[in-house]
Amino acid sequence: MTARWDELADGVFARRYPEWDLTVGLVVGDGACLVIDTRANAAEGAELARAVREVTPHPWTVVLTHDHFDHSFGVSAFLPCEVWAHENCHRELAARGNPELALPDRLLTDRAELDIGGRRVDLVHLGPAHSDNDVVVHVPDVSVVFAGDLVEVAPPGSFSAESFGTDTTLSGWPGALDDLLALGAEVVIPGHGAPVDRGFVMAQKDILHHLSTLDSSVRAGEMDAAAAIAASPVAEDVTRAALRLG
Ligand SMILES: [Zn+2]
Repeated sequence: MTARWDELADGVFARRYPEWDLTVGLVVGDGACLVIDTRANAAEGAELARAVREVTPHPWTVVLTHDHFDHSFGVSAFLPCEVWAHENCHRELAARGNPELALPDRLLTDRAELDIGGRRVDLVHLGPAHSDNDVVVHVPDVSVVFAGDLVEVAPPGSFSAESFGTDTTLSGWPGALDDLLALGAEVVIPGHGAPVDRGFVMAQKDILHHLSTLDSSVRAGEMDAAAAIAASPVAEDVTRAALRLG
């Protein structure tokens, strides 16, 4: 798979990469643009910066959907510019203590409203879920939302074991997807994989809700690991990761 831009709506693009099937985004306004995620290192970030320049000459702002390396470690290729992220994203990146990592300098707690060349773009944190610093990027004029890893497409199912980390709050994730749907966007761009519709997000929410219920039962001692795996809607390795069964 060679990376290319897909224009999903007027001036709104997604670009998928073979590495981790990462999907990044671009919103182009009148004289400004917004780059959503930066790939995994300085060289990959530089490739993305060049790719943005194939679409638009406008100065860019960057937003990070969360701190995980595949999304956030390419920032330096875009500097100097404003880099938006959740405040916990800054904390996590700073904690890595890597002097080559560029840190976000525009931090949000719950939400921020950007003006990207006359286009309104909302950055929204929906509470701890996939990580504690997920930010979704809503472009209301075209009904598109970039969901970061709150939504992941990992064929053949909706999740992989890598979807769940030690920084995941499983119980918060279904509600975050409800809140994401409440933004009203029709097109949802995941952090990995191809764009999806609202129905996909609802189905993913149901799976997460089921996993969260199983997790509660295991934590309460009402169910053992084998029973939870048997009752799970997803594969054993994914269930083990989601419920931290080891
Ligand atoms: Zn990711």
